Amino acid sequence: MAEAAVSGRDPGLAGPGQAAVPGRSTARPHRVLVVEDEPALLRALEINLRARGYEATTAVSGRAALREAGQRPPDAVLLDLGLPDVDGAVVIRQLRTWSRAPVIVLSGRTGSGDKIGALDAGANDYVTKPFDIEELLARLRAALRRDEPPGAGVVTLGRWRIDLAAYTAHRADDPGAGEQAPVPAAMHLTPTEWRLLELLLRHPGQLVPATRLLTDVWGPGYERNTNYLRFHMARLRRKLEDDPSRPRYLRTEPGMGYRYQPDGAAPPG
Ligand code: CA
Repeated sequence: MAEAAVSGRDPGLAGPGQAAVPGRSTARPHRVLVVEDEPALLRALEINLRARGYEATTAVSGRAALREAGQRPPDAVLLDLGLPDVDGAVVIRQLRTWSRAPVIVLSGRTGSGDKIGALDAGANDYVTKPFDIEELLARLRAALRRDEPPGAGVVTLGRWRIDLAAYTAHRADDPGAGEQAPVPAAMHLTPTEWRLLELLLRHPGQLVPATRLLTDVWGPGYERNTNYLRFHMARLRRKLEDDPSRPRYLRTEPGMGYRYQPDGAAPPG
C-alpha cells in the first residue's frame, strides 16, 4: 500500500522541516526517526520527509529503533506497531523512559485495542494504514508544534473568540444590524467545559486521548468514564459549533479521544 499512500504529492514543495517555517531558517531541521519493517513504505516515508526538509533516520526493527534513537535523539518518531522483534508499544515505553519526542503510530491493524495500548504507552497520535501522506505530515507538524505555546491564549473557534487566560468566549463575528441574533454575544461555559476545551485548544490538530482528558479533568481513577466525556463534549459542541451534529472544530476520534481541528489545518481525519 506504500505506493497508494504517497501518490499525488509534489516533491518540489518546501517543507516545514526547514526554511518554510519563519524563524527556523537557521535552525537545524527537525529529525524524524521512521521505524517500519516494510521496505517500500520505509523508503517512501524517508523520501517524503527529506523532500519536506526534515532530517530522516530509519530503523527496521524495535531494537534498531531504540539503538538509533539513543545515538541520534529524534524530535519525532513515526512508528509501525507491527515490528518483527518487539511490539511497538514496548518501543514507546522504552523511549518514554528518557525521551519526550512525539510518537505517531502507523497502525496496520483494524482493531482499536492496539492503538489504545500505544496511546497509553505514551504515543501522541496515530494514522491507520493505508494512510494519506499529507495527513501524516499534518499530524507530524501538529505533534512538533506541541511545545510551542499558543500566542496570547486567544483562539478563534468558528464564530467564537476564546480567551483561555480570561476564560471568556465572545462572538468574533459581527452579528450585523437587523439580524435576529440567535447566537448570544457571549457564551457561558461551566468550569468542566473550560478545562476540557482548554486541553483541546492547547493541542491544536492533535489527538488528545480520552484517558488523558478524563484523568486531567476528573482525576486518576476516572479513565473509563467515557460517558462523562461524551456528555460534556456534546454540551461544548451545542454551545460553540455552528452545526453540533457535524462538528467542525471539536472532532471525535471514535474509540480514541478528541481533536481540536483549527481552521485551514489538516484535512478531515
Ligand atoms: Ca510492520
